[in-house]
Amino acid sequence: MNDRTPREAKVFLHHKQGHRVPVHVRATPLTDTNDQVVGAAEFFTDISSEETMQLRIQELEGLALLDSLTQLPNRHHLEPELSSRFHEMQRLGLKFGLIFMDIDHFKTFNDTYGHDMGDTVLKVVTKTLKASVRPFDMVGRWGGEEFICILRTVNSDQLLEIGNRLRLLIHKSTIQAGDKILAVTVSKGATMATSQDNAESLIKRADSLMYASKKNGRDRVTLG
Ligand code: GH3
Ligand code: MG
Ligand code: MG
Repeated sequence: MNDRTPREAKVFLHHKQGHRVPVHVRATPLTDTNDQVVGAAEFFTDISSEETMQLRIQELEGLALLDSLTQLPNRHHLEPELSSRFHEMQRLGLKFGLIFMDIDHFKTFNDTYGHDMGDTVLKVVTKTLKASVRPFDMVGRWGGEEFICILRTVNSDQLLEIGNRLRLLIHKSTIQAGDKILAVTVSKGATMATSQDNAESLIKRADSLMYASKKNGRDRVTLG
């Protein structure tokens, strides 16, 4: 403190329960009436939740588990998640469903309005999906303009209902392209996981059901 400069640092303090807590500390010199430095005042702020969140994001990015455009879990993240759901179903009998969706005529957005507009469409769909699923469900980007939702503790009626709700929310969202307002729709396949399934067979069935939606006019959910 002798140079009279306030300092800041991120340190890890020992919690009395034994673990380390990330703390932001700011130290400011204290002077007496003769302007001599006689000590310092230190301010501590617990930053554990912020720190944990940042570390988690860094960890996922480091492991390449998040898609860089949408920040959604990518295939490398979704596959182990699907395995966990299958284990959970075997051990605890917890049912789950899967929705596979593909943006309709997505190529047109790229071809007519440019690749950046295509990216914007992907982000808008992402926002709608993220905001509309329950915290214990997972939504991710499976490939180019394909997304999947893994929905826990649902039956097939609820799966269809959720599928249609998400479909409608996407249909009702709007995308500004200059002075034009564009609409985007998705085709979906929805199916419950069975004890005979594995991740591959489940995805394959949901994907075929999605294709049935395409054939039948798009902007719809096919349950199977
Ligand atoms: P359909 O209704 O039958 O699904 O038609 P579609 O035009 O959506 O299907 P198609 O598979 O022909 O087009 C997918 C396009 O998505 C082709 C590819 O260039 C584009 N694409 C894939 N990933 C990205 C991306 O990250 N950003 C952008 N802008 N385009 C992408
Ligand atoms: Mg596709
Ligand atoms: Mg498509």
